[in-house]
Amino acid sequence: LTEKEQDVIDEIADEGIDFLRLQFTDILGTVKNVSVPADQAEKAFTEGIYFDGSSINGFVRIQESDMRLKPDPDTFAILPWRNDEESGAARLICDVINTSTGEPFEGDPRYVLQEAIDKAEEHGFDVNMAPEPEFFLFKTDEDGYATTEFADHGGYFDLAPKDLQSDVRREIIFTLEEMGFEIEASHHEVAQGQYEINFEYDDALTTADNVATFRFVVRAVAAQHDLHATFMPKPVPKINGSGMHTHMSLFKDGENAFHGEGDFDLSETALSFLGGILDHAPAITAVTNPTVNSYKRLVPGYEAPVYVAWSDRNRSALIRKPAAREPVATRIEARFPDPSCNPYLGFASLLNAGIDGIERDIDAPDPIRENIYEFDEEKIEEYGIETLPKNLGDAVEALEDDEVILGGLGDHVAEKFVEAKNEEFTDYLVSVSEWEIDRYLEKF
Ligand code: GLN
Ligand code: MG
Ligand code: MG
Ligand code: MG
Repeated sequence: LTEKEQDVIDEIADEGIDFLRLQFTDILGTVKNVSVPADQAEKAFTEGIYFDGSSINGFVRIQESDMRLKPDPDTFAILPWRNDEESGAARLICDVINTSTGEPFEGDPRYVLQEAIDKAEEHGFDVNMAPEPEFFLFKTDEDGYATTEFADHGGYFDLAPKDLQSDVRREIIFTLEEMGFEIEASHHEVAQGQYEINFEYDDALTTADNVATFRFVVRAVAAQHDLHATFMPKPVPKINGSGMHTHMSLFKDGENAFHGEGDFDLSETALSFLGGILDHAPAITAVTNPTVNSYKRLVPGYEAPVYVAWSDRNRSALIRKPAAREPVATRIEARFPDPSCNPYLGFASLLNAGIDGIERDIDAPDPIRENIYEFDEEKIEEYGIETLPKNLGDAVEALEDDEVILGGLGDHVAEKFVEAKNEEFTDYLVSVSEWEIDRYLEKF
């Protein structure tokens, strides 16, 4: 056992933990867990815990289904809402190991992100990321099912008493803090019933783990108050949807490699990284905006990006350069991802695009400082601005044509992801929506 693993085992004993939840994420971003008695911890660290991978979405076929979960001791956290005098539960996030080879399973999203991080490291870069996940709180009905009835009627940065759910939000924050999160800020978002909680930046892998944890903590705490928290990107039409802006910077030898002499204090490294993301944006979208519903958010007028451009100020652009008070804080903000994405695959795709930009030493286009929503077609053409894919089908097509982003997922994930998303889009195409019934049923 390593020192860290031993520390975890000691803490399990000290804190009276009797169950361990071994967590990992499937290709579509759903957190899965296998619960084992806490006395299995040593075995989990040394041998791993066997599970049947064939029942996990996008993992493996029955005949090759033996997988092992290998917990990462850095991710140990007690689940506060499962902890009392008598019993306690904790979780560990795991890597998935292929039993027959003993190697990391290439279908494990955490491994896909680790590969992208390793690639950045080959260039001497450490990767920092900070997400801003937004979500809605809705009431549940008497049977406990989610509705789309708002939990409150507050608006942007409103204070109590209008912000009726601030107690729930406070409890979410306390719970996250107990699990080791550094919460920077939280506020009521623009839409009714919509919130954002920001947590401190960290290395890319930790941040992806944090996003996965964040989503299940928010849902669990909300459920205790008979509310449903949703990270669906556009649950209610004609008001803002939920995004997951992702701030990024690369550090080299302890210095911020994004800080420099270029536009708005950006270095050439930052501008190439940014250029890489713009260049691969249509393909990345399939991963960072992976649902049919994601594309209902990416429309003009609701603070979500539509155009492939960057800016230091306007929020209609795909990438924004936020003002930074000191060089360590210089970073770029990708505004297109949404919180329905698999954070491991989403971050891996952003990173692979950026590193490709650096490897090809490309220049970012000029920033656009006007409100692009207000541009007419002529102006869009004059500036040479492209738009994001209009739907999941177009995005997946762009992904299939992009060797860097598709290749960055690895063969296994790439194949399963494209297959699942094509199936999802086809299913949508053959469905008939309420909108169609309302509009056409009596008219024709
Ligand atoms: N909700 C907006 C989006 O969809 C963002 C709003 C904001 O953070 N200013 O991206
Ligand atoms: Mg924000
Ligand atoms: Mg926001
Ligand atoms: Mg933001």
